[in-house]
Amino acid sequence: MADLPSIAKVVVNLALDREFDYRIPERLRGQLRVGCRVWVPFGRSSRIGYVVGVAEKSTWPDLKELMRIEGEQEQIPENLITLARWIADYYCCAHEQAVRAMLPAVVRHGKMKPRQHLFAWLRPGVDVAAELEKCGARAKKRAAVLQVLARHGGACEAGWLTREAEATPAILNTLVKAGIVLTEHRVVDRDPNAGGDIVLPTRPLELTPEQTTALARITAALDRRGPGVILLHGVTGSGKTEVYLQAIARCLEQGREAIVLVPEIALTPQTVERFRSRFGDRISVLHSHLSDGERFDEWTRIRNGRAQIAVGARSALFAPFQKLGLVVVDEEHETTYKQDEAPRYNARDVAVVRGKFEGATVLLGTATPSLESFYNCQLGKYELARLSSRVDHQLMPAMELVDQRAEASQKGGAPLFSRRLMQLIRERLDNGEQTILFLNRRGFATQMICQKCGFVATCEHCSAAYTYHKQAAHLACHLCGATIRAPEACPQCRDPEIRDAGTGTEKIETIAAKLFPKAAIARMDSDSMTAKHAHRDTLSAFRSGKIQILIGTQMIAKGLHFPKVTLVGIMAADMGLHLPDFRAGERTFQLLVQVAGRAGRGDLPGRVIVQTYTPFHPVLQFAMRQDYDAFYREELTTRQALNFPPAAHMAAVHFRAPSEMVASAAAEAFVARIKPQLDPGVELFGPMPAPIAKVRNQYRYQLMIRGGSILRLGQTLRPLVTGATAFRHEDVEIHVDIDPQSLL
Ligand code: ADP
Ligand code: ZN
Repeated sequence: MADLPSIAKVVVNLALDREFDYRIPERLRGQLRVGCRVWVPFGRSSRIGYVVGVAEKSTWPDLKELMRIEGEQEQIPENLITLARWIADYYCCAHEQAVRAMLPAVVRHGKMKPRQHLFAWLRPGVDVAAELEKCGARAKKRAAVLQVLARHGGACEAGWLTREAEATPAILNTLVKAGIVLTEHRVVDRDPNAGGDIVLPTRPLELTPEQTTALARITAALDRRGPGVILLHGVTGSGKTEVYLQAIARCLEQGREAIVLVPEIALTPQTVERFRSRFGDRISVLHSHLSDGERFDEWTRIRNGRAQIAVGARSALFAPFQKLGLVVVDEEHETTYKQDEAPRYNARDVAVVRGKFEGATVLLGTATPSLESFYNCQLGKYELARLSSRVDHQLMPAMELVDQRAEASQKGGAPLFSRRLMQLIRERLDNGEQTILFLNRRGFATQMICQKCGFVATCEHCSAAYTYHKQAAHLACHLCGATIRAPEACPQCRDPEIRDAGTGTEKIETIAAKLFPKAAIARMDSDSMTAKHAHRDTLSAFRSGKIQILIGTQMIAKGLHFPKVTLVGIMAADMGLHLPDFRAGERTFQLLVQVAGRAGRGDLPGRVIVQTYTPFHPVLQFAMRQDYDAFYREELTTRQALNFPPAAHMAAVHFRAPSEMVASAAAEAFVARIKPQLDPGVELFGPMPAPIAKVRNQYRYQLMIRGGSILRLGQTLRPLVTGATAFRHEDVEIHVDIDPQSLL
């Protein structure tokens, strides 16, 4: 036994997120593994916790001994422990951090118990008529309980039973004591969908030829029962979701289980409902607003095989299935799949890894594949399936560019709304059709500038200008959330001519209200959607036609499907094009195609107006033609020339410190340590200040490392950021981001 680890690192069931070391008694050394649920002495009592790691030695003297392993329930399954280990190695984080990500906090902390209710039923063989006889006229309530039980047939919930019989628990008890009635506590799931809308069941649709071919690919992969990745590239409205649904049905037929990842569950209510209508109870929807009790029950339901499909955001990838057959990643290009705190994993990429470990098929679906995924198809690592047209011969929306430079020089035009856009909106209003206006920036104006001295109101904690929110009458920093009252005069020169500049959705709404005074207009962004059901309510008002113009940020860019929307206006198409990020072009292309895809999803053809100051920009041109392949070719050429992903792997190292000097010094020292260890051919850039140099009073420096084997790079970086060998610098927070999605 000498070579088995003797120390267990345990997270105790307090909301502490701290590990404690315990000695593992000889008798448990063979059985104990990471993921086990264990009892440990804690203070003067004992507690239950999870083993999140094991070690040979501990830095603590006088360790207490671990007591025992708690039953099979609520342990982290072995397959997820394996996955966690891979995550820790690849994404360069502590093993414990990765293990922790496998369990929802409510399960990890172990305070929650399954909800149990008392159930009662008649002992088999009891002669009900004889018993009723015995009750006579005096024991009326006792007789009533017996009658309800006899009528009901099976076990019924005790509370319901006594209410129904107008009896008391004491009367039920006497029947139990007399051996006439049996009772038992049974687990009752807290139902997150209780009181919700009734969902009408749907049946599989007859597939189009393209859908049939795509599904055949997927079922072939499923039937091989080995790992395989398929990229489903289907234009908006091509019926990808129906393909997912039928692939899942196939997976369930095989007796296996499926996970569906969506970028943000609250933003895709229609998609989620389609899954619920097809699969009913077999599905577990992991909403972010589940109560602790509901979340606990959903986890347990999956763990026990009572649910076979899990739908949720990023973390649903860790649903504790044991017979995983399929993982669907919808909108695989979305950046929300990347977690921006440790472990900094990308759920899309980890899905591929989980599929490989567990012999599952992974289906990546999108209208605008990420460069990474499409590149993997080219390399032959992923299979490609395509849906090139919309179902039912609906046309792709007609796209039209409007040159805002020319508009600006015209007299009589409304700023921000081109004459063409106004004309088309009016037509929609006259015909009873609907319009979506898209601008990916909330607030009224992006800046407050003094016309006289040039002062710009800037957050005192961040290197960013305040956004002006007119309704709330305040300035808000979108990086740290700080707000101050909107000034009436310039704080610097006291001139009252301080003005707003730049445009957000709130301003678009105000102008639209003036231009179309009779129209019903709603705005959907994170400012207007703070109330609990605001999002759902606005969407259903839009669906029912009570709203004619919907204005919004990326919140309305994806997943929405409204047959009466025949016009989409993209207010400022080049807004994200010039950000200091090598993916700026890719993001803009994706956003334009996705937003445009909201138009013409019914019988009526759709039209998209793209307002821009740079009409000849190649990215806009490709988006206008919805020509993904041409976009990809051009973009990949640039990435290859510059050695950016997907042509090369990339890692970023971030340094955060309360002063710029400290951040830069730490980064320099880090470079001195890592440089000699890098493989030849690996490029290191920096240290340099991050594009957003300060957030929440923390100065930000970064390093960029590109090229070579990412696994080798991880091996070099990991000891520098985790464990005893970690590079430390006073007051500096250091973290590694592998395959970073954002460099701001
Ligand atoms: P995507 O996910 O590719 O944007 P959807 O799956 O939302 O496309 O499909 C668009 C619309 O077409 C939906 O209303 C869907 O119910 C319908 N649809 C999908 N497949 C078929 C089919 N084979 N026959 C008829 N209607 C279909
Ligand atoms: Zn700020």
